Amino acid sequence: MCERLLQDGYDVVAMDNFHTGKRYNLNALLCDPGFSCIEHDIVNELPLDLRFDEIYNLACPASPPHYQADPIHTFKTSVLGALNLLELARRNNAKIFQASTSEVYGDPFVHPQPESYFGNVNTHGPRSCYDEGKRSAETLFFDYSRTYGLDIRVARIFNTYGRRMQPDDGRVVSNFIVQALRGEDLTVYGSGLQTRSFCYADDLIEGFMRLMNAPNAPAHPVNLGNPSEFTIMELATLVVGYINSRSKIVHRPLPIDDPRQRKPDISFARNNLGWEPRIDLAQGLAHTVDYFDTLLYGKPEDQRG
Ligand code: UDP
Repeated sequence: MCERLLQDGYDVVAMDNFHTGKRYNLNALLCDPGFSCIEHDIVNELPLDLRFDEIYNLACPASPPHYQADPIHTFKTSVLGALNLLELARRNNAKIFQASTSEVYGDPFVHPQPESYFGNVNTHGPRSCYDEGKRSAETLFFDYSRTYGLDIRVARIFNTYGRRMQPDDGRVVSNFIVQALRGEDLTVYGSGLQTRSFCYADDLIEGFMRLMNAPNAPAHPVNLGNPSEFTIMELATLVVGYINSRSKIVHRPLPIDDPRQRKPDISFARNNLGWEPRIDLAQGLAHTVDYFDTLLYGKPEDQRG
């Protein structure tokens, strides 16, 4: 995202607490005079002297094991973090973007999920810190827009993967690729018949830019994701086949409240932003396998710390 903004001519100030991301991902960017980075947790009050035209709030761990490791902090990141950034946007009269999530639909009864579906979410389960945190953040964004006239853009992001994920991220695409590259068993949770729709990160970022730059703010959150739906077993088979790995597929218990199906209805983004994903799962997996192969086994790049 930072790379893309710099390419498009913006000056970028990144803010990260580095709880789940790695500093070495920024090494190349730090040479760019238009880029700087502040280590800060948006749960805490922000430095008052910051001046921005646009703010993108992408803060929050998105992988279930990571967001469940400290659920109270996850909830605070979504709610207090959103409040702090909305106040910053208000002081600066800045346009502000919120990374919301398909998790607001919970375990959906409507398939595929259009933006108008209100969702089926457990308020007190192990996923709730993330789902309800993101739902509350959507509420805050729309209340700030109605109350203060703030220009807000809210994207509901469906499962995303790509370069620069951590090998221990815990989400399914990186888990399977890392397991297959290491020749370890691929851990399919439950039957593997549950479905997800996987979007390559570069496609998603293009969607962010189009949503942020659209002349008029949509009156509701906008789904951004790849509508090609796969079962988790299909994904496992694809990854093992592509890597030509000796790994076997094993089954592990299905996590509590794991959604059974998920697929975005992206009609709004298609019709109003002219956006749709261009990179299919086979291409996206090839790029991501290449990335992890170099990260795990390649010659260490000097920018990696
Ligand atoms: N999953 C799996 N094996 C793994 C990690 C995840 O079978 O090693 C399953 C998980 O139970 C879920 C799907 O893959 O049904 C997507 O999980 P992920 O954590 O990537 O994202 P989310 O559940 O938030 O959609």
